[in-house]
Amino acid sequence: MKKLVDRIIALEKISKELEPTEKERDLLNQEVQSYANRFIETLKTKPAFSEANVDSRKLKMGSEKLSLATLLEVYGSEVADQGIKPASGGHLGYIPGGGIYTAALADFLAAFTNEYAGMYFGSPGAVTIENELLDWMKGVFGFPKDAVGNLTSGGSIANLVALTAARDKHQIKNEKVTKSVIYMSPQVHHCIHKAIRIIGLEDVQVRLLALDALSKIDPVQLEETIKQDLRDGLQPFMVIASAGTTDTGAIDPLHEIGVIAKRHKLWYHVDGAYGGFFILAEEKKTLFKGIEMADSLVIDPHKSLFIPYGLGAVLVKDKEAVFHSHHYTANYMQDALVDMQINPADVSPELTKHFRGLRLWLPLQLHGLKPFVACLEEKLLLTTYFRNKLEAIGFRLGPEPDLSVSYFWYPVTQVEENKFNEKLMELMHQDGSVFLSSTRIDGRFVIRMAILSFRTKIDTIDSAMVMIKNCSSATKLYFKI
Ligand SMILES: *Cc1c(COP(=O)(O)O)cnc(C)c1O
Repeated sequence: MKKLVDRIIALEKISKELEPTEKERDLLNQEVQSYANRFIETLKTKPAFSEANVDSRKLKMGSEKLSLATLLEVYGSEVADQGIKPASGGHLGYIPGGGIYTAALADFLAAFTNEYAGMYFGSPGAVTIENELLDWMKGVFGFPKDAVGNLTSGGSIANLVALTAARDKHQIKNEKVTKSVIYMSPQVHHCIHKAIRIIGLEDVQVRLLALDALSKIDPVQLEETIKQDLRDGLQPFMVIASAGTTDTGAIDPLHEIGVIAKRHKLWYHVDGAYGGFFILAEEKKTLFKGIEMADSLVIDPHKSLFIPYGLGAVLVKDKEAVFHSHHYTANYMQDALVDMQINPADVSPELTKHFRGLRLWLPLQLHGLKPFVACLEEKLLLTTYFRNKLEAIGFRLGPEPDLSVSYFWYPVTQVEENKFNEKLMELMHQDGSVFLSSTRIDGRFVIRMAILSFRTKIDTIDSAMVMIKNCSSATKLYFKI
């Protein structure tokens, strides 16, 4: 017994390293705090993009202890200063968000209290907070109170949960798979295609609908396609619309599609991962009419609510459909069977999960909703401002966008237009002061702007214009035109 106790005490001397003293905690916190301050204060003067040049030796796992100062330095040079800077207001590529500071504080709280947000029994407060947020979202999008939802790691998992519920509701399995039809825009986010495969529906019929001039689903054509499939003995099962596509930000005609979905008893799924929260901007409300008709909806607070990466959300009206694949009881969980509230674990593939709701709940409570809405409205106006400036120096613009994603290209005749714009994009990436990405629309290489970071301000757009002018001149020189 003595030997056993001696060994335990010897080990404790080593393992107590994992619990810093109050004084040590103060020092550690101060170091991170001052790093955070330096990071945020210098964001504006640093490029939004740097081509990768990571020294992987510095990031090697070793068994020796290193100081926090050393680790923060390595973090700065090899992580924070490399690639795209998602925290920078100059990030105008893909779908940015920024990552507000107070959400990081919430993550800190959630991490050191280590709340178990999977089950109500484990953390009734944390689960209540997450369900409160979902109730708030139900209100925003006109979903009934008895809908269920989940705060996921992002839009991809949220779409996966929604599509799983659709599959289970309509019992798409066995010989039904190859006869069932899903209708969607060719512009749906690729995570929809991933989800279809993951849930075993690879062999389902997928109809990629033709789009109108604004890259939106044409409801007339949708209904004709459904009718033709019915005549052919197929089983229309689900229609997927986007409330803001990733490529052009287009919002499909949600109401018209909803009416058709109801008429043919199809599951109606809306992916609003990028655009959903723009419903909060008064002038955009009408574009979202019909979103309340959806059977399932995906929204991404880590995009249009500016929360750091790692927060998506899904709402589903049919609780039983979600529970079919996700609600489970196990013997070792018998103590947890108090159903005061929906357990996050019953609505998601996850059991143990990060208490990610706090990173949205705390900022919303601390700042109130107003600055979030103002920020969304500001992004919409900055998009117009940017487009006007580009047009004034001879760029061609994509159609007037619904939201804050748009595209442009420089028209040339002396050389192949796509080649010119590809070179222009390459030079802009080399410059990096502001980061834009590109896409192809009907075969045309275009430069895409996505204005969604909360840190993108009018002076960011002015800097973008300086960069674009310089790079355009350099591209003309390159092609000698
Ligand atoms: C970003 C996006 C997704 C994927 O969401 P993640 O959070 O990146 O997993 C899905 N749909 C749309 C429309 C998106 O913009």
